[in-house]
Amino acid sequence: MYKVVVIGGGPAGMMAAGKAASQGNDVVLLDKNEKLGKKLFITGKGRCNFTNDCDVEELFENVITNKKFLYSAFYSFTNMDTIAFFNQMGLKEKVERGGRVFPASDKSSDVIKAMERYLAHNNVKVMLNTGVKDLLIKDGKAAGVILDNGEELLADKVILATGGVTYPQTGSTGDGLDFAKKTGHSIKKAHGALIPLVSEDPFIKELQGLSLRNIKATLFESGKKKRDLFGEMIFTHFGISGPVILSLSSYVKEGKKYFVEIDLKPALDIKTLDRRLQRDFEKYSNKQFKNSLDDLLPQRLIPVVIKMSGIDEQKRANQISKEERLELASVLKGLKITVKSKADIKLGIVTSGGIETKDIDPSTMESKKISGLYFAGEVIDVDAMTGGFNLQIAFSTGYIAGLLESREDKK
Ligand SMILES: Cc1cc2nc3c(=O)[nH]c(=O)nc-3n(C[C@H](O)[C@H](O)[C@H](O)COP(=O)(O)OP(=O)(O)OC[C@H]3O[C@@H](n4cnc5c(N)ncnc54)[C@H](O)[C@@H]3O)c2cc1C
Repeated sequence: MYKVVVIGGGPAGMMAAGKAASQGNDVVLLDKNEKLGKKLFITGKGRCNFTNDCDVEELFENVITNKKFLYSAFYSFTNMDTIAFFNQMGLKEKVERGGRVFPASDKSSDVIKAMERYLAHNNVKVMLNTGVKDLLIKDGKAAGVILDNGEELLADKVILATGGVTYPQTGSTGDGLDFAKKTGHSIKKAHGALIPLVSEDPFIKELQGLSLRNIKATLFESGKKKRDLFGEMIFTHFGISGPVILSLSSYVKEGKKYFVEIDLKPALDIKTLDRRLQRDFEKYSNKQFKNSLDDLLPQRLIPVVIKMSGIDEQKRANQISKEERLELASVLKGLKITVKSKADIKLGIVTSGGIETKDIDPSTMESKKISGLYFAGEVIDVDAMTGGFNLQIAFSTGYIAGLLESREDKK
């Protein structure tokens, strides 16, 4: 019989288990994988952007779904607490563009090792290759778990930290959502957030693999501007991806029509861009139009832009009219990509949807339906932008779940 069983050895579960054990509780942490933190390992392209060095208030601004629910969690364990926590566990950090915090070593494995030290220091028993089949509920209270092999592990409290449904190869297969549903919790339909966008525009395949830096991407919903962002993007075999596109995808809802406009020259207004075009056409005056854009655009983009401009590619640069030049400039300032849908949910960086926050006490993460059952991390219906905010959610919710405060204790 344990005091606490934690299901899921991701960042939320590890934080919850360590915190619960640090208060003298007998804690067991279960994961169906052969190692802890499988998803954590691939975060931040293997470098793990584990939090953001911003004001606490800015954490909320970067949460997309249910920011108010996170009030207690973020204030109980802030982004500065996350940095201090890892420092105590022997991990140094560095801060990059946009306040993104990474381990100084650039290795996500060092973040996992730091968390493993926390678990070992607090004598958490870790059981790997141990899948949970169901929750054990007795008299409306959490009483433990049933393992895949049928064995029962009894415990006073259960913390469910099984993650979302994206990148299922990392173990996040949505089991916790089923457990929560079966025990009377409402589940908001899960869909991928921070996810590539699918486009069937004919030029997409031609551009596959091309990445663009310093562009501005603007998302339009039903013809109306929704949000714009500066940064990097990449064309894939099925559509578009990269940091700005993943962030914009958080605003894409089912059943609406979207397109993305790429401003390839966001630093130049249309007049300045026109002057620049005039200069380039003078420089290459005797060359064909198709050979006059080398200074302006990556090679692979040139045929696509030419086609969109409607200008004859054989035309000599010095024969291009003012109207044609302005048409070209408008293509460069607004290359339009029609969005068919979001990519397959499995490709989402995070899951939007999950256990509805109305069923969870935000100051303890305890279920309002089953006492002694707590939730932490992505299994909850919360999600945020890129920049370290999703891992901060995992750490903050894991921390207060690990405090094991209960409505019963408060009575
Ligand atoms: C490619 C990629 C890059 C990312 N980069 C970043 C980043 O740089 N910064 C950032 O803030 N966020 C990033 N994220 C998001 C972040 O990784 C997640 O939000 C975070 O891992 C969620 O933590 P979690 O502990 O809730 O769930 P998870 O990390 O998904 O962990 C859940 C664990 O539960 C286990 N489990 C599930 N079901 C069972 C069961 N039935 N029995 C036993 N164990 C079970 C799983 O095996 C898994 O180990 C990234 C995500 C991806 C996919």
